[in-house]
Amino acid sequence: RSMQFPRRIAIFGSTGSIGTQALEVVAAHPDLFEVTVLTAWKNADLLIQQAVQFQPRLVVIGEEHLYNQVKNELQQRGIRVLAGISGLEEAAAEDLYDIHIAAIVGFAGLKPTLSAIRQGKTIALANKETLVVAGEWVMEAVKNHQARIIPVDSEHSAIFQCLEGEQHNRIEKIILTASGGPFLGKKPNFLVNVKKDHALQHPNWRMGEKITIDSSSLMNKGLEMIEARWLFDLQPDQIEVVIHPQSVIHSLIQFEDGSLKAQLGLPDMKLPIQYALCYPHRIANNFPRFSFRQYLALSFETPDTKTFRNLAIAMEVLRRGGNAACVMNAANEEAVWAFLKNQIGFLDMSDVIEQTLEKVSFIPHPSLADYEESDRLARQYAQLFIDKIQRRN
Ligand code: NAD
Ligand code: MG
Repeated sequence: RSMQFPRRIAIFGSTGSIGTQALEVVAAHPDLFEVTVLTAWKNADLLIQQAVQFQPRLVVIGEEHLYNQVKNELQQRGIRVLAGISGLEEAAAEDLYDIHIAAIVGFAGLKPTLSAIRQGKTIALANKETLVVAGEWVMEAVKNHQARIIPVDSEHSAIFQCLEGEQHNRIEKIILTASGGPFLGKKPNFLVNVKKDHALQHPNWRMGEKITIDSSSLMNKGLEMIEARWLFDLQPDQIEVVIHPQSVIHSLIQFEDGSLKAQLGLPDMKLPIQYALCYPHRIANNFPRFSFRQYLALSFETPDTKTFRNLAIAMEVLRRGGNAACVMNAANEEAVWAFLKNQIGFLDMSDVIEQTLEKVSFIPHPSLADYEESDRLARQYAQLFIDKIQRRN
């Protein structure tokens, strides 16, 4: 099915890194896109400013206590305002848009995205945690409701682009590229003293804090392996990771004849965002172009999973299946927020995740309720371990 232009766009998480870049893409093509829904968690000022500029039909503010502020500003302009988690789900279910950009960070993105899937919507998916937590469930719902997911994560967008015209050809394996983050080549004796300011300095990408920490610990690549498993219906051993510090090759597919296909470009999230919003079309833009003069060498190395234990944990979790990834994701979210608050050290994050995985019972075929319960329990245990580490320090 091919969607007409102009396309009506709903951005869930419009105040974040992906959300604001999506608005830049939209603003550059007012003839192709119309913003109809915007949502944010607590940045009411930016949300109001975006709404005044883009004139959506509906706005949702997550934090309920900010509802009055947002409503007072926007209702007089004819914009409907909702609040809270229920407001997010309600907005996602509205027949107000063609493409749902899932740009909320973390587990919180699952419910609004599922709500959109149940309406048979097209999802431009940035929120990888949705597939990590409940990938089997989500993809089943996509099939049952004739919804569609177009990946925004650059690696998955690369694979998706390489698959165009290959519908009948089997994938032998995929290779996800990883920049290696700011601590590439470092060893545990260095990482033990790393602080958040250093970890937040990613060499190639400007992103939200959570994913930036995940990139520095390689958990991001672990999450992406699990995301790819569901998105492209692969077995765990069909997914490989290679470190590629320049982030120019965004990922590769190997087909059964041994042929490799890759997608390349400058590291700029606006490109996969635009691709997802225009699919299957490519439209002209004025983004900076790649030049070989700036990249005389592209290099590759194998990931050091002994030092970056989060990637080893995620690989094991990918093999285990069931609720393991949901538990890992919850523990990781708690660990990352604790690290960002200077409550635990960089290496402690892996300990918190491992210990949480040992505590929460394994469920081989979880229901949606099981996922919610696993998420809740995992956060409880993770918090317990975080408290313990804090007392020790
Ligand atoms: P961000 O922190 O910059 O933005 C998050 C957005 O979600 C904000 O609009 C915030 O208001 C909203 N939000 C936060 N908590 C919420 C909650 N509990 N309920 C509802 N809304 C909430 O994050 P980001 O970097 O834009 O990343 C968003 C998602 O996209 C993540 O899942 C990330 O892994 C993925 N992603 C990001 C990038 C990138 O370059 N930033 C690249 C690939 C994938
Ligand atoms: Mg990525």
